[in-house]
Amino acid sequence: MNRFDLHMIKRLSEMLTMSTSCTCILQEVLITIVEAAQFDLAVIFLKNTKEETFVLSCSHPNRFQKYKNYFKSEKFTACFDTDRKIQGSKHDLITSNRGEECQLYSIPFPLSYDKDIKCTFILIGKRDVIISAEDLSFLKIIMNQVSLAIDNELINTNTKRLSKSSLMILDSFAEGVMVINNQNIFFWNQKLNCLIESNKSWTDYSIEQFFKQLIAISKDTLNTQLAIDTLQNDSIIHYHFFIETRSNKYLRIKKYPLEKSHTSFTWGIVVSDFTQYKESDKLKDDLIATVSHELRTPLTSIKGNASALLRTDINWPKEDQILFLEDIYEESDHLNDLIGKLLDFSKINAGALRIDPIVLTVQAFVRNLSVQLQKRYKERFSQISLHMDIGEERIEIDEQRIIQVIFNLIDNGFKHNTANASIKVNIHRFDHNIQITVSDNGKGIPKENIDKIFDKYYQKNPNDAATGFGLGLAISKGFITAHNGEIWVESSEGCGSSFHFSIPIVRR
Ligand code: ADP
Repeated sequence: MNRFDLHMIKRLSEMLTMSTSCTCILQEVLITIVEAAQFDLAVIFLKNTKEETFVLSCSHPNRFQKYKNYFKSEKFTACFDTDRKIQGSKHDLITSNRGEECQLYSIPFPLSYDKDIKCTFILIGKRDVIISAEDLSFLKIIMNQVSLAIDNELINTNTKRLSKSSLMILDSFAEGVMVINNQNIFFWNQKLNCLIESNKSWTDYSIEQFFKQLIAISKDTLNTQLAIDTLQNDSIIHYHFFIETRSNKYLRIKKYPLEKSHTSFTWGIVVSDFTQYKESDKLKDDLIATVSHELRTPLTSIKGNASALLRTDINWPKEDQILFLEDIYEESDHLNDLIGKLLDFSKINAGALRIDPIVLTVQAFVRNLSVQLQKRYKERFSQISLHMDIGEERIEIDEQRIIQVIFNLIDNGFKHNTANASIKVNIHRFDHNIQITVSDNGKGIPKENIDKIFDKYYQKNPNDAATGFGLGLAISKGFITAHNGEIWVESSEGCGSSFHFSIPIVRR
C-alpha cells in the first residue's frame, strides 16, 4: 500500500514554492510526511565543513530527544554521505534511547548553494513500517523540492545579511548603487535616483525599467541602447559605459559581479558622476588650444619681421629696420610674459610657488610701481591714474610678484574695455592691511560669473579675442594668497569692475 499520493506531493510542492520563507513551512511539510507515512519523526539536518550538525527543521521537537543517542552515532554520520546527488534511502535499524527498535530512512540531498554544506533528511518510524519503492520515489521528489527551496532560502538569507550590514554603508555612498539578484533589483540607494533623475522605488521594478530610464535621460539613445545590450550579456561580468544626459551630466554606468553560483548571479551597477572630470578634461583641451594659439601669434609676428629683414632683394631704410626690430623685441617680451604665466601657474598648481619677500614702505613700493607702469604701458600710461593716501606703513612683499598682479588687473581692464578705457589704481589703508584697488570702466562681469572668475582656465568667452589662457586671475590669486592676503572683485555688467586685494601691514 502506498503512503504518499500525487495529490499530496502536489500540495507539499505548492506549500514549498508559495511560501516566502521555506524554513517556516518546512516543519509543516515534515509533519505531513510523518503523518501520511505513519512514522514517528522527520528531521532535516545540515552539516558544515567543521563536521558540525544543525537541525534545520524537525517535525516533532518533543520526540527528538528519544533519538539523541542515535544522532551522536557513527551510523548517523554515514547518513550525510552523498556524492552531491540525491541518492536512494538508507534502510537501517536503530535503537531509541528508550530501547525501542526503529526503522530509519535517510535521504541525503545536496545543496547547490554552497558546496561546503551537506543536508540530509531523516525519517524514523516503527519497526514494521514498510516504505514501498513508489513511496520512496515520491519522497525523493519532495526532497528535491525541499533542496531547491532551502537553496533559494540560503541565497536570500545571504543576500539579506548583505542588506543589513553593507547596505547601510552603500546607502551613504556618493555614487549611485544598485544590487541585482538575477534580474530582480533588491537594493538601490538614493544617490542613484539623484543621478538618473528618477523618483522610483526600484525594488518594485524590474531591471528592464531601470535600463529604460537610462535611455530616457540619455542624449544618444541609440548608443546607450547598444551599451545596455552588451551589459546585459551574462558572459560579460565587468563592463562600463558612459552616457551624456539631456541635462548635460556625464555618467559612468559600471557593472560588476558580487556572487555567482549555478542557480543565481548577484551583481551590481554603480552610477558615477563624471561631469566634473569631463569638464576639466575639456578645459585642459581648451587650454592647450589657447596656449598654442597665444604662443603662435607673437611667434608669427617675430618670424614675419625677421624674414622681412632677411630679404636681400629689398634695401630697407634704416627707420623701417628699427620698426621691425622693435616689433621683434616687443613680441619676444610678450612671448616671455606668456611663458612666465604658464610657469607661475604650474608652480602654484603644484604648491611649489616660492616668494622672495622684502620689507619696504608703501611709498617706496608706489614709486617703483609708477616707474614700471610708465615703462610697460608707454603711451597708454596716460589712461592710468595712480592714487595713494598712505605712505609710512611698511609691507613685506615680493615686489615683482605684486607688481605682476597689478599688471594682470590693468591688462584685463584694458582688454575687456573700449579704446577709451580708464584705469584707476588706488592704494589705501584698511585696518591692518593695505588695500589696492584696480578699477576699470569696461564691460563688467555678469553676476553669475563672479564666483568663477578666479578659477583656473576660467574664460567667459573662449572665442573672444580679448581672452587669454584664463590663468591671469588664478595666478594673481596664487600670488596674493602666498602673501597672506585676499583678492576679490566687485562688478556689474556694463558698469566696469573693481578688483581689490589686501596685503598685511608689518607691525612695528
Ligand atoms: P584671461 O587670460 O582669459 O583674461 P583671466 O584669468 O585674467 O584670464 O580672466 C578670466 C576671465 O575673467 C576673462 O576671460 C574675462 O571673461 C573675465 N575678466 C577678467 N577681468 C575682467 C575685467 N576687468 N572686466 C571684465 N571681465 C573680466
